[in-house]
Amino acid sequence: MDVVTYSRNVFIPVTNLCRNKCKYCGFRGSLTNYYLIDKNQVSSILNMAKNKASEALFTFGERPDVFNMFKKQLRVMGYKSFIDYVVDLCGMAIQKGLLPHTNPGVVERRDLKKLRVCNASMGLMLETTADLEAHEGCEGKVPEKRIEVIRTAGKLEIPFTTGLLIGIGESWDDRIHSLEVIRELHENYGHIQEVIIQNFKPKPGTAFSDKESPSIEEMVKMVKMARNILPSEVTVQIPPNLSDFFHLVKAGARDLGGISQITPDFINPEAPWPSIESIRQTLKDSSFILKERLPIYPRYVVEGWYPDNLSSLIEKMSDKGGYRKCLI
Ligand code: SF4
Repeated sequence: MDVVTYSRNVFIPVTNLCRNKCKYCGFRGSLTNYYLIDKNQVSSILNMAKNKASEALFTFGERPDVFNMFKKQLRVMGYKSFIDYVVDLCGMAIQKGLLPHTNPGVVERRDLKKLRVCNASMGLMLETTADLEAHEGCEGKVPEKRIEVIRTAGKLEIPFTTGLLIGIGESWDDRIHSLEVIRELHENYGHIQEVIIQNFKPKPGTAFSDKESPSIEEMVKMVKMARNILPSEVTVQIPPNLSDFFHLVKAGARDLGGISQITPDFINPEAPWPSIESIRQTLKDSSFILKERLPIYPRYVVEGWYPDNLSSLIEKMSDKGGYRKCLI
């Protein structure tokens, strides 16, 4: 039987303010309508997640503190930098028995170091190595900057998730090149635990609202290509709420990412996650078996790629193979 993994998570979208303006984004808020969730809200979400999740996923717009208004708001809350605030939220999650996974965007090495000690793993979608119209004027979407963050994470030995966004104007050659870059990063640092192959989904009210999503045939081809190019120990992940996941599993994907029973997918709110039971039913009578993992992949658990202050939690939550210990 081939193992297909997933992580039970709770999704915490800390702020939707972002310095980038990706043409396909339906998540970003502007200075007149953004939000920043406070600690009471985070605490309530974490309380709901108790015994229902292993992972606290912190996602947010990139570098919101480049905006003075946001910076002032943080200062009133007692923080000099946004990442310091996120570090405190990660600490709250750990106290509640959840393992943080943060997607920090393009940040400095010092920020990655701060986050490293309170995260089981971290992530940054490479998306593509091509310069695309979709990312025009987006400082954080310059491919070299994103590659540098992934490289720095490797040097800091952070188990890392990255991925490609498919269908935003890139060519097949761009896709191949993007995968080759990720392969090389992993060959140098050994830290890429998974690569998400995510299909673009148009969002109403965005510049890309009329663009089509890639077809399932294109995604199957993409997953097969990723499987061929990436090292065998790097898992291909696909989001099960964005396409017919069973086709993509048959094509070589072996992870379904974070699935929440508590919070929606705030980036794709129109696409609810399938229940874990329904995924299990779909895989029933096939050659695949569904298994829960932690946000840190089993081999990094076994090899001890985690900070000291997470060791007791990870050791309590994992089995001998590094998977999530059975809760029953
Ligand atoms: S997709 Fe991400 S980086 Fe781009 S504008 Fe939206 S929140 Fe910002």
